[in-house]
Order: sequence, then C-alpha cells, then structure tokens
Amino acid sequence: MSSAYQDDRKMIDSIDNKLVALISERIRTAKKIGAAKGSDCKANLWDIEREREVFSKWARIADEEGLSSYYVGRILREVLNYSRRVQEGFLENGQSKVARPVTRVGYQGVQNSYSYLALSKLFSCRNSTCLKPIGFRSFAAVVDALSADVIDYAFLPIENTIAGSLNDVYMLLREQQTSIVDEEIWHVEHCLAGLPGANLDQIQTIRSHSVALQQCQSFLAKITWASAEVYYDTAAAAESVIAQGDPRVTAICSKECALEMGLKILQQDIADQHHNYTRFVLVTSKPEKVDKRLPCKTSLQFTVCHRGGALSEVLQAFARRQINLSKLESRPQPDSPWEYLFYIDADGHQDDPEVADALTEIREYTNYLGILGSYPRRSHELDEIPSRHTQLDESVQAEHIVISPRSKVDHDVKQLTNSEAVIDNVQLQSKINIGNVEIGGSQFVVIAGPCAVESRQQIFDAATMVKDRGARILRGGAFKPRTSPHSFQGLGFPGVEMLVEAGRNHELPVVTEVLRTEDVDRVANHVDAIQVGARNMQNFALLKKLGTINRTVVLKRGMSATIDELLKAAEYITSGGNQRVVLCERGIRTFESATRSTLDISAVVVLRERTNLPIIVDPSHAAGRRELVIPLALAAAAAGANGLLVEAHPYPEKALCDGRQSLTADDLNQLMTRLEQIVNMNGHTLS
Ligand code: PEP
Ligand code: MN
Repeated sequence: MSSAYQDDRKMIDSIDNKLVALISERIRTAKKIGAAKGSDCKANLWDIEREREVFSKWARIADEEGLSSYYVGRILREVLNYSRRVQEGFLENGQSKVARPVTRVGYQGVQNSYSYLALSKLFSCRNSTCLKPIGFRSFAAVVDALSADVIDYAFLPIENTIAGSLNDVYMLLREQQTSIVDEEIWHVEHCLAGLPGANLDQIQTIRSHSVALQQCQSFLAKITWASAEVYYDTAAAAESVIAQGDPRVTAICSKECALEMGLKILQQDIADQHHNYTRFVLVTSKPEKVDKRLPCKTSLQFTVCHRGGALSEVLQAFARRQINLSKLESRPQPDSPWEYLFYIDADGHQDDPEVADALTEIREYTNYLGILGSYPRRSHELDEIPSRHTQLDESVQAEHIVISPRSKVDHDVKQLTNSEAVIDNVQLQSKINIGNVEIGGSQFVVIAGPCAVESRQQIFDAATMVKDRGARILRGGAFKPRTSPHSFQGLGFPGVEMLVEAGRNHELPVVTEVLRTEDVDRVANHVDAIQVGARNMQNFALLKKLGTINRTVVLKRGMSATIDELLKAAEYITSGGNQRVVLCERGIRTFESATRSTLDISAVVVLRERTNLPIIVDPSHAAGRRELVIPLALAAAAAGANGLLVEAHPYPEKALCDGRQSLTADDLNQLMTRLEQIVNMNGHTLS
C-alpha cells in the first residue's frame, strides 16, 4: 500500500474525529437550549421555520461545494432528529420522572437483533440512567415478563412497511392492560454476512428469520447454489454462523450486527425493497405523561357493531374533527369468522379535547374499543424536510397531558329533563348484540331459562319452552355461585356444552355465568354472552378480563352495590376495550324481608339518565317467589327497561335450584302476552 494512501486514511480518520467532536458540540448546545425550553413551558419546542432555513442553507452550501444535497440532507436530518430527541429528555415527561437505577427493557431476540438495535436507539435519548435490555424467545414471553414485573418496559415490533401489522403483537396488547408510551422506527437494511474467510460463490446455507428471508426473495433467487434456513432471530442466526465455524454457512442480518460480531459482509442492501421500515412500540403497565408540545399519536383497535355504515361512522367521527389517521388496517379475527378487527393510528393525544370527543363518539359504533396508548409520534423523523408539528398557540400552556379514565359509561350530567325523555331517548342508547339479537334502543328483549343447567333433557325442554313462548335468548347457569357449599354447584363445562347445543337447536343465543377469570376465554368461545353475577360485581380481576373479550357481558348489580358502583364496575369492562355491556338490576338487600331482595325500579330510571348502556331487569332473584315475578317484570317494562332476565323451568318443582321463583311454561306465556301491551305503550316493540 502506498504511503500517500496511508496518509489519506489518516486524514480521513482525523476528519471523522473532528466530525464526531462537532456533533458532540452541537448536541451539547442543543441540550442547553433544551434545558431552557424544558423549564419554559410556553416555549415552542421546535421552530419549523428555523429548521427549514437550516436545511435549505445546508443544501445550498452542499451544491456550491459540488456535494450531493441528498446525502448531505440525510446527514443533517439525522443530526436534527438527534437534537430534538435529546431536547425531549428535558421535558417533564413520565420517562424523566421515573428515577430508576436500572431500566429493564424486554425484547424478542438476542443482542444485535433489529429489536435490540432499535431499542438502543430509543433509549439513547430517553432519560434513563442505566439500560438493561433483556432478550426473550417470543413476544408472549416479553409480555408475560412485563406483567410479572420482571421488566419495566416491553419493546415490540408492531408493523413493518412491507409485511404489515404484527397481529400477534396486537393480540397480546389486547389481552393485557398495558399502554404504549413511545415508538421507534428502524430502517431495516439486510446484508448477507459470513465468516471472515467466506466467499459468496462457495456458500451453502443462508440462515435468517422467516420475515427477513421473505424480504430478500429476489436476492435469494439469484443465489441458486445455496439454500435458505429459517431461524428464530436474525442476530441469533449470525451467532450460529460463528458457533458453527463453517465459512459455507451465512446469515442475513443487519450491517450493525455483522460488524459487531466481526462477520464479513458478503453483500449489502439485499432486500427487495429499499424502503423497509419497522415500527416498534414501547409498552408499560401504566400510561406516562406526555408534554403537550410533542406531536402525539393514539393507537386504537376495535371491532364495529354489525350494522350498516358502522365503520364509516367511526371514520366520520375523526374526519369531522379533522383528525388525521396515519394508519387504518383490518384483520380477520380467528375466534369470530367474518368479523374484523380494525387498527387505527390517529394524530393527537387521547386527552386532546377533539380526540377525546371522537373516542367517546365511536364507542357507540364499536363492540370492542381498545385504546392502546397515546405517545410521541416519530414518523415525521423520516421526512426529508422537517414536517409541520403542532404549533403551540401563544395562549396554550405546555402543561402535561394527564391521562383521564378511558371509556366512561357514566355521563354524570343529567341529559334528560322530563319523564317522557327518560323512556323515549332511544336514539341515544347503545344497541348491543347477543348473538343475532339486539338489545337497546326500542327493542324489548326477554332472556329466559332455568337458574341452572341440570341435565341435557332439562335444558332442551327449557329451550323448547323459551322458544315456543317467544323469548329470544336462553339463559342457564353451569357455574353456580351458591351460598352454601353443599348446594348444587352446576355442571361446569359439560353444562356449558349442553346449553350451547340446546340454544343452537332452537336458534336461541345463550347466556351463562362465569365465576373464575381462568374460565372466561373457554366459555366465551362457545356462548353469546357472559353473565357476571351479583356476587361478582366487584370481582375486579374478572371484570378486567371481561374487558378484553369479544362477547357481550351481562353485568348484574351487586346485592349491596350502589348505582355508582355498578357504573364503575361497567367501566372496568369498557376501559379494557369491550364496549358490549348490558346492565342488570336484580334487587338489593334492604330491611324488607317479604321478598328475597328489594327490586330497585328507580335504578332503571336513574341508570337511563346516566348511561347509554342497555338496562335489563331480573325480577326473579328480586322476588324469590313466582307469583311476584310477572307484576315486577311489567313494572320494569313500564319504567323503560330494555329487557328482562327471568328464570323459567319446564318442571320447576323438580328444579335443583331456585325452583320457587321459576316461571312455568304457562307463566311465561302470560308474561309475554301482558308485556306486549306495556312495551307497546312505551312506543317500544317486544322483539
Ligand atoms: C342467576 O342469575 O342465576 C344468579 C345467580 O343471579 P344473581 O347473581 O343476581 O344472584
Ligand atoms: Mn337463580
């Protein structure tokens, strides 16, 4: 090698050192400005005009110097991005408040995987003292570690510009009560790496993650002499190349990974598409505060009601408020054929008044609405020219967004002014499906059946009776919460199966009670609605779990629960995402002992004032005696309830539980006939 060449290399090294020193000086200065902006909450975080000026000045100088303005622009863009992120560290966001000695962040994969690299990038500017990345084998393992408090944050890929959304990750976020608090975008640039002695013509194996292999199809098609091998992680594939020590074995991984591991890059930039970005999200158990000056986005997932135009109404709710949606995607749901789960990212924070309004409105059109989190938006960092951020209005203080309770079902405010309105406000009411039957609005629905499923014969006979008498939904308990441990406890899962079979046979949707969190998924997979009994109204773990499922929940009022407490219990479910809650008044404990409980008819009217959720009444458990059930049921209908939950048994004298209060077939007949007049009088129809 000539000495002149050596000298040039030395020169380049010294220029690079100067470049790094200059960047360091620039970041130090940016920090000084950041500290001032952080304490002055009225200061604009970023001056777009100034960024544009700096940008075009650089481009002009680059042109004059005969340099590519594209590359010079890219360098500047990253310097600007870096400065902005560093300044964010001075804002009093949730992140800087958490004074942890070590921040443990879980990710899927091993060191130097794309997840690892992206999380290192994100945390290089977050205000954390000591970062401890912990690799896990699967996404589920990362999320489990978060719920077990083994890690402080989970860092998960959520979408890729080529492969689309990672459904598995969305599903995991749905099941857990977590919040997205930040995002990171990583430009995925695959390379082929081998041992230092490797030669492209002699390779035999190309190992990588299935997605990476898929993204390099055209390149792989050209390397006909080697075969592809799926590995669970790109960096783990690179590690295996070293471990095997065979130069014929190679891996597709990031350039950073190859360099870090001392591998030789046999070919760079081998992906079919150059524009290949993966978006990662940082997830933790609680929402974090965000400085209002940061441009934010809010991620949602939802299912829409089966009603013409429901999706369009959701989109309109955002469009009318001029809220930009940066993402809209639909995915099939394996547990509900022909129902789709939609993913939306909307610009803005869920506590911005406009976004909050839109979210309240769309609850009416959704069966499930999961708000995954509001967090700083990073996608603008990819723009060639700095994009427009939310400019701070002079009058607006840079206060922090305080996370408000999500999905309120209790309106608090009185929206109704006269008694007719209490009954007639059907337009405002949510309509919720139990199977193909709609509850809410002007339809009055009767759910009937025995207290417990006792045998196949009994529940089939009950289903025949219910169907013939015109009730629309079949009830029957398989898990019975009994006061005495010696009483019949229900048939359990075989009982659920019998109920479902009987219902299907008579085209009746079915509802049954679940007592334990761990049974929810299994039961929900089969039935149309899940009942929460009076004794479980404040079983918060159960309510939280029911918030994550795709089934209607019939929530009964606790025996000594106030209306407030009932509404709060419903909010446990809706804030988990599940909007399909039907409230059920079933009598409360008072000093009166003439009835089993005292039916609180006024609860129907008060609830009507305070919530849009459908309200049904169970007169059976309130009365305790069959003779009282019909009059109480009629009173409930007159007060404006949306339906009834009544116990009816084909042979009540033989019932294993609650026979004394169960209607006979004749009683049910009479109830249905008499109900019709009252329901019609209210302008409703008996469905
Ligand atoms: C029931 O509906 O069978 C029941 C047990 O009711 P509650 O939870 O209202 O007592
Ligand atoms: Mn009962």
